[in-house]
Amino acid sequence: MPNYDYECKVCGHSYRKFQKMTEDPDRTCPKCNGEVRRLIGLGGGVIFKGSGFYTTDYRSPEYLKKAKEESQSTSSTSSCSCCSTKNCSTCK
Ligand SMILES: [Zn+2]
Repeated sequence: MPNYDYECKVCGHSYRKFQKMTEDPDRTCPKCNGEVRRLIGLGGGVIFKGSGFYTTDYRSPEYLKKAKEESQSTSSTSSCSCCSTKNCSTCK
């Protein structure tokens, strides 16, 4: 059963509620009866706050450099094995 996070637009009260998918979402704040909005979270976890969110997708300069080196090393295997020159025509 999924859980949903709500935040009151009026008083800012936030709470989490376990609901069935078929159940209607909350519309009113249990504290002040104001209008609430449902926060869509992934896996019922933390809402995207803070810098940690980007760490999984962030490609660091080190990563890009490594990837570039790897692609270069794989392409170098296709070059001539005798004189290590690409497209070598003298010693095929
Ligand atoms: Zn409220």
